[in-house]
Amino acid sequence: MASNGKPIHIDDAINGLKKLLSEKEDLQTVAVAKIKQLTAELEGVDAGEFNAVERIHDGFARFKKEKYETNPTLYGELAKGQSPKFLVFACADSRVCPSHILDFQPGEAFVVRNIANMVPPYDTIKHSGAGAAIEYAVLYLKVENIVVIGHSCCGGIKGLMSIPDDGTEASDFIEQWVKIGLAAKSKVKADCSDLEYSDLCTKCEKEAVNVSLGNLLTYPFVREAVVNKKLSLKGGHYDFVNGSFDLWNLDFGFSSSLI
Ligand SMILES: [Zn+2]
Repeated sequence: MASNGKPIHIDDAINGLKKLLSEKEDLQTVAVAKIKQLTAELEGVDAGEFNAVERIHDGFARFKKEKYETNPTLYGELAKGQSPKFLVFACADSRVCPSHILDFQPGEAFVVRNIANMVPPYDTIKHSGAGAAIEYAVLYLKVENIVVIGHSCCGGIKGLMSIPDDGTEASDFIEQWVKIGLAAKSKVKADCSDLEYSDLCTKCEKEAVNVSLGNLLTYPFVREAVVNKKLSLKGGHYDFVNGSFDLWNLDFGFSSSLI
């Protein structure tokens, strides 16, 4: 950081522009005005309320003082290893951090977050990041619960519901990813065709969780652990508009043939 608290690269940029202004006296008036405006904007941004580096430094300092240093027993244990009871799939949405809303303490939950909290079906080539996390959590950490948590106003589910029937895609990754929940979209559209779009999306948020629970059973080590009663699969839905949380068990009625 520079002495006045501004990041050095911003100061360099402003100084560079000022130098350019002083050296190039033949610059046209319009160009000069433009550069002055840009420098003012740069300084304005820099003097604004939000500073990412300070936010991160302050956040860690607060965590260290208030949590890390006040709980040496917990952090001493965690330094030796982890044995979380939960593997959680949650959406990447900034409003639904599972550790925050379920008050998980460090070491309690092994968490995977992605767009629309999808669990892809077993496939060693596609989406292997999810597979690696499930394999590690089930076989090595021996978690006792897998919880897939959907949420209200999920942009990923809206994306899934908005994919045109002709399959046209407008993004490089998003639609391909959320199509993991295509069966949920089809079921909701078939069962609840009279509902408004927003209500359809809410239904789909929950149904997509059920699709993910079914997909978990395509992993042989998940199936085996469930059959041996070492592992339980649960669905959840967090509604941050009304401040409620639903939790349900995997309905074996529709998926018993997979076990
Ligand atoms: Zn979401």
